[in-house]
Amino acid sequence: MTDDLRPPTATNDSGIPTPSDEFSLTVGPGGPTVLHDHHLVQKIQHFNRERIPERVVHAKGSGAHGFFEVTADVTEWTSASFLSEVGKRTPMFARFSQVAGELGSADTVRDPRGFALKFYTDEGNYDLVGNNTPTFFVRDASKFEDFIHSQKRMADTGMRSNDAQWDFWTLSPETAHQVTILMSDRGTPRAYRRMNGYSSHTYSWKNAGGERFWVKYHFKTVQGVENFTLAEADAMVSEDPDFLRRDLWDAIAAGDAPEWRLEMQIMPFEDAADYRFNPFDLTKVWPHADYPPITIGRMVLDRNPANHFAEVEQSGFAPARLVPGIGLSPDKMLMGRVFSYHDTHLHRIGANYEQLPINAPQCPVHSYNKDGAMTYRHAGAQPVYSPNSYGGPRADPSKELPSWSVEAAEIGRYAYEKHADDDDFVQPRALYRDVMTPTDRDHLVTNIVAHAGDRVSADVQRRVIEYWTNVDAELGGRVAAGLGYSEAAASAA
Ligand code: NDP
Repeated sequence: MTDDLRPPTATNDSGIPTPSDEFSLTVGPGGPTVLHDHHLVQKIQHFNRERIPERVVHAKGSGAHGFFEVTADVTEWTSASFLSEVGKRTPMFARFSQVAGELGSADTVRDPRGFALKFYTDEGNYDLVGNNTPTFFVRDASKFEDFIHSQKRMADTGMRSNDAQWDFWTLSPETAHQVTILMSDRGTPRAYRRMNGYSSHTYSWKNAGGERFWVKYHFKTVQGVENFTLAEADAMVSEDPDFLRRDLWDAIAAGDAPEWRLEMQIMPFEDAADYRFNPFDLTKVWPHADYPPITIGRMVLDRNPANHFAEVEQSGFAPARLVPGIGLSPDKMLMGRVFSYHDTHLHRIGANYEQLPINAPQCPVHSYNKDGAMTYRHAGAQPVYSPNSYGGPRADPSKELPSWSVEAAEIGRYAYEKHADDDDFVQPRALYRDVMTPTDRDHLVTNIVAHAGDRVSADVQRRVIEYWTNVDAELGGRVAAGLGYSEAAASAA
């Protein structure tokens, strides 16, 4: 064997050659193991620390690298540098995920799917933390933790509870739109490549002249939307619990790079006040007829991770990561998420998680943040405070994110302002009646009945019937019949 082909000598993490990966150091062949076998001790110690905390939500995910390319001039709406000219490409990393299941859960269990994107732009990292649904279950961050608790394991039994899920949903009518999508076959996508991704939240854009717009992002799969039926998804749980991960990996490995078309809905800033739906309510969409989607770019994922832990697990996405030309909106769920995501990564990965290669910006960093556990980016002799007279970096007020004004008002706890057509059931009703095909509607009923049938108390089931009757009386009747109640139960509900 030539030197080139010989495997390298194993070492410990200090680079010291390992004498054995097979035998511990003992007093004679049958004697006790000695504590100063530091190769063995450090191997055990590191192994004990191999896992970082699992994400509380979106624990199981899959990721891929790729790029975003601008295909239409958007400078009339935003000054974001990475969107500044047609043809401009920005490297990206995308992570798709299950929401409620743990790291080892099966890929095809009914759940929304996370659709998190990181754009390594020349003005810093831009993250969009979306889902494969254009809406969400709740509209105020105060309800988020309770909602998630209802989806996760119960305190006493350690089991997930369909009763808890329906209990929370039926007591929170704003969930009806998202639950309609979740209970449709879109709740069991056939592939990450075959689902759309949505910002869901409304964001703001500002152009070079300072003019502002409200926007929503829709990433439409070029592969086409495809979903499993309930029976197919259930069968796949045992056949291949990693089915979605494998599908994405295999497609990219085979050179069949998946692609999404970015369509934007763009609302003039002044429209928000009088729009028929509150445009910041995350449980609502903007109907396409009101704000027709405009295609502005494409996202292509063409490279698998080299290391799952380093790239997929250690990636940290946060909606607070906004670049000049792009801002937030007065969406109260978004406000909570702006705090929550960065905070959870500080806990899960550490104070300097943004220095890890997967999270590190691909542009210069001149921050006054310093030190902390595991830091390895240092500013050298740069002054450690601002202002200073020693040539330290200076803030640039022209880079302020777009914002909005509010009238002086009493600080308090308020519901969203109601706009003319606001109602929790009007949009799921439109989805059920006007968008779904007869087959979609049949599958919706089958999926609801299967989910709310077993292990859900009679009291909660009665509310389930009422909930779907509010969406559509005929749907409520079909659910009632499926759950073994007379159809009259629906009209009485
Ligand atoms: P449109 O007829 O213009 O659009 C309906 C959209 O619904 C389609 O473009 C498609 O969006 C999506 N869709 C199709 N089948 C399903 C399904 N089985 N489950 C979930 N979504 C589906 O109508 P409107 O814009 O007036 O919206 C009507 C209803 O459609 C809304 O109340 C909402 O429930 C739903 N919808 C609307 C979206 C929007 O942003 N306006 C986005 C998604 C759903 P896509 O191509 O994005 O999948």
